[in-house]
Amino acid sequence: MKAMGKDIVGFGAGEPDFNTPEHICTAAKRAIDDGFTKYTPASGTNELKEAISKKFKEFNHINYEPNQVVVSNGGKHSLTNIFIAILNEGDEVIIPSPFWLSYPEMVKLQGGVPVIVRCGKEDNFKINREKLEAAFTDKTKALVLNSPNNPTGMLYSKEELEEIAAFIVEKNIYVISDEIYENLCYGNQEPISIASLNDEIYKRTITVNGLAKSYAMTGWRIGYLGAPLDVAKAISAVQSHETSNPNSVAQKAALEAISGDQTCVREMNAEFDERRKYIYKRVCEINHLDAIEPQGAFYVFVDASDLVGKKYKGQEITCAADVASFLLNDYYVAVVPCADFGWPEYFRLSYAISLEQIKKGMDRIEEFCNSVE
Ligand code: PLP
Repeated sequence: MKAMGKDIVGFGAGEPDFNTPEHICTAAKRAIDDGFTKYTPASGTNELKEAISKKFKEFNHINYEPNQVVVSNGGKHSLTNIFIAILNEGDEVIIPSPFWLSYPEMVKLQGGVPVIVRCGKEDNFKINREKLEAAFTDKTKALVLNSPNNPTGMLYSKEELEEIAAFIVEKNIYVISDEIYENLCYGNQEPISIASLNDEIYKRTITVNGLAKSYAMTGWRIGYLGAPLDVAKAISAVQSHETSNPNSVAQKAALEAISGDQTCVREMNAEFDERRKYIYKRVCEINHLDAIEPQGAFYVFVDASDLVGKKYKGQEITCAADVASFLLNDYYVAVVPCADFGWPEYFRLSYAISLEQIKKGMDRIEEFCNSVE
């Protein structure tokens, strides 16, 4: 519709709308000029793994040595490699719902069984010990944890993580901690890495991260993970046969991003925070919509269940996908209905677009909601 010249407001973005900061691009250009265009070690260059190890120690308070770090072609690649390395046919992986839609597919692709555990509004969409107990079987291999969360924007507190960690240690399973949105925490919220809690959980955690969201580097395709040495070695072997090293030039850019000036991260964060406050306020003010205030990432998970059963232009609304389609066709607003995230009555709004676009889009959503009977 955009290509046809329609004035669409798109709330679907899964990536920052900022350009990659200039000093990072400069490092990449330098890498090309210096001829840094050959194979590197499959798990990433030593200098980048050292920088990531330092960052893990200083920012996340986790002691991953460089040989416990595997640099990959993006967070998705790291996650896929983890499942290849740890899953046997029929192994179960607990995935709290709402979930980022790729987790169950990645598990299934490796012959695993995703065990989806619904975590409602009353739990701020977070998993707890009771729910873990109910989902656990003798086939459970791992739990996937994502904080800050896509699509809910929720963050796990230290106490919540301690409760989960105690369960993981007791059952001797893995936790895969996807921390890709760690730099996008707002107010006085601090991201906490589960692996940093104690030695026992450290031995059972694989910490996943990437450059995409924090540094506006989605297209560069660099992710990384830290893991116990035996797991890191297995993942490294998988990657070596599968894709070899991540792009050499992008690795130089990643090195600059991680070890260079972090002002750009703070600036993007401040901009996201301003948008977050505005969009959340608007969602709360609009008839029939509701949300829990997001604390991190750049999404609002909107409860549209009050619209279900109501009518728009004489047509019954049965789920958020109907809402999305009415919004798109009549109001030129694109939202992401969340059936694929496990929640058909919810839709996701991304605030990785300008405040001006957000205002325009929210005015249109408000108009739609007011016209529903
Ligand atoms: N994990 C979560 C929760 C995500 O939302 C995304 C991207 O949307 C990723 C991982 C993958 O990021 P990357 O672009 O580094 O593959």
